[in-house]
Amino acid sequence: MGGMLENEDTKRLGKAGIEEAPVRGWDLHCHTRFSDGTKTPEEFIAEARELGLHGVAITDHDTWNGWDRAVQAARQYGMPLVRGTEITAHVDHTSVHMLAYLYNPDDKGLARMFADTRAARLARVQEMVERISQDYPQITWESVRAQVREGTQTTVGRPHIADALVAAGICSSRSQAFATIIATTSKYYIHVPSPTPVQVVQTVKRAGGVVVLAHAGDRSRNKYLLSDDRIIELIDAGLDGIEIWHRGNDPDQRVRLAEFVQRYGLLATGGSDWHGAGKPNLLGENLTPDATVKLLCEGRFLSVV
Ligand SMILES: [Zn+2]
Ligand SMILES: [Zn+2]
Repeated sequence: MGGMLENEDTKRLGKAGIEEAPVRGWDLHCHTRFSDGTKTPEEFIAEARELGLHGVAITDHDTWNGWDRAVQAARQYGMPLVRGTEITAHVDHTSVHMLAYLYNPDDKGLARMFADTRAARLARVQEMVERISQDYPQITWESVRAQVREGTQTTVGRPHIADALVAAGICSSRSQAFATIIATTSKYYIHVPSPTPVQVVQTVKRAGGVVVLAHAGDRSRNKYLLSDDRIIELIDAGLDGIEIWHRGNDPDQRVRLAEFVQRYGLLATGGSDWHGAGKPNLLGENLTPDATVKLLCEGRFLSVV
């Protein structure tokens, strides 16, 4: 029964994806203080409730540490919640973000992947801070740590260096820091050590989760977008969906990505990539239809191996 529904529904949703963005549904891409967002899981759930969203997903970077608090808040506010994580991958000089939903957090393979990524990221951020401090002595590891809001549970990254640069008066805003001192083209920049997207798909599938390719049509993030061959490689590895409705995806890229959704019967999702006060993205500005979320939740059980 699930199979039939899945094919018919995803085809329909794929077609809708090219024409118009959903106006009601779920925001499946949201960050809290457990990575680089500025709001707590409780504030996030309360705001989603206030906006009348049908449901939300918590998707902090490379961690599931915010899940427990989000689940508690969701129960308290009666707000449907999908537990997720945005995982950073890398291939062909392109940084690839993948949204993993409803996987088993006790899975050993996934835990190892997160631990490796976090250790490598921490070392990388420390090395970047070291480089920056040679020209800007006010920026120390302490000043960056001071910007981390949930202690060791937070995935430390460039946003925290940006906040330290703002706090020291060197940059006027996070965005300005990202455009200058910590830009990917800056001499202080160090590449994020990451798994490949295929490794992420395989690991999430083994952990019983659903995996969606995030904002793959955003030219402002990468000089080179993921090629068709790379996307097909991910589909072959078990990719479940593609995030179509995201502010960063250019209109022509939405059409390109929706074609994969239609051709391969994938889920078409949407999300705001909300980070609270730090970025212009508004909670609920892009949504996923209820029917797709239903398939996504069913897919979790279909994909358990
Ligand atoms: Zn992302
Ligand atoms: Zn994101």
